Amino acid sequence: MTHKFDTLAVHAGAEPDPTTGAVAPPIQLSTTFVHDNAAGFSYQRDEHPTQQRLETALAALEGGERALAFASGMAAVAAMLDTLQRGQRLVMPEDCYVGTRGYATDVLPERGVEVTTVDTTDLDAVRAACRNGATLLWTESPSNPRMQVSDLAALAEIAHASGARFVCDNTFATPVLQRPLALGADVVMHSTTKYFGGHSDVLGGALVFARNDEFAQRVAARRLLTGAILSPFSAWLTLRGCRSLPARMALHCANARKLASFLAIHPAVERVHYPGLPDHPGHAVAARQMRDFGAMLSVEVRGGYDAAFAFARRTTIFTNATSLGGCESLIEHRASSEGAHTHSPPGLVRMSIGLEDADDLIEDLQQALSTTAPR
Ligand SMILES: *Cc1c(COP(=O)(O)O)cnc(C)c1O
Repeated sequence: MTHKFDTLAVHAGAEPDPTTGAVAPPIQLSTTFVHDNAAGFSYQRDEHPTQQRLETALAALEGGERALAFASGMAAVAAMLDTLQRGQRLVMPEDCYVGTRGYATDVLPERGVEVTTVDTTDLDAVRAACRNGATLLWTESPSNPRMQVSDLAALAEIAHASGARFVCDNTFATPVLQRPLALGADVVMHSTTKYFGGHSDVLGGALVFARNDEFAQRVAARRLLTGAILSPFSAWLTLRGCRSLPARMALHCANARKLASFLAIHPAVERVHYPGLPDHPGHAVAARQMRDFGAMLSVEVRGGYDAAFAFARRTTIFTNATSLGGCESLIEHRASSEGAHTHSPPGLVRMSIGLEDADDLIEDLQQALSTTAPR
């Protein structure tokens, strides 16, 4: 029997513990397992029961054959980018998570991997970038921090036509809103630190593979050697987050929609980047490939860097902090927090819309913006 998504979110990897009957999964801390045991575990760095439960859930939710959990989102990014060898080529998006860009531009060229950066919302530009051969096409949709939407089905086709694998960072959307493997992606990457964890209290990352083929097995074997697995407690917390993910995303999205409409007509705001707004350049594609538009948005405020920096420090319900996907709303001036690799417009402020009452959030932004507006 195939279950619907919300049922899977609650039940995948959640079988009661056969030895005790416990309904909530146990946290198995043992680093080593008796040889020749029936479950097949050997050593925690290889695989452990709590992580395996999480991987079962992640594979089910993304519709992949195999999932690998990692110690952080960046460990998952690195595991994927480390599959690239001398002379091979990565085609990556202009707008993406600052750490992904840092790894691609600082680490990969040292190893003789070529890196081409392209606007992945522009399919002709991606075709041109892949024309001379590509090994991996990477995208992030919606992207950080400009909320650009890339056409995943079209990108998968372009990648495959040039013999490349197609990887999508699905952190902002989560599989509740978007399932890249069903649209042709080969691998989905997550920072589970964000919506999967959902409470700003657990770091983690994941790769979900469409096929459990030789490539997926090579990445798994490499994780054993590099050791970037998820700890049992982190795996347990992330697994717990899966259960409420669809319910949380529904409220996150509903709140974000209200805030986006408020911000779109505010005089102190020059531009709102939110794919749910009809005038967003990626709105039509997002409407086609996403179930809802997510709860991340960014604005460019009038007055540039200083006004944006000040705005992000005047809110009282929104917390001025980095990261996203928790119950609490966060606000951040990106250019000042991203450091050397920043590409963010100077007046851009990014918000992670939480689960508070939307009217309270609007009131908070209203008071924080009222002192920002130029007189
Ligand atoms: C946070 C984030 C990452 C990195 O994940 P960590 O868990 O912080 O290592 C990668 N991609 C996106 C889109 C993110 O938001």
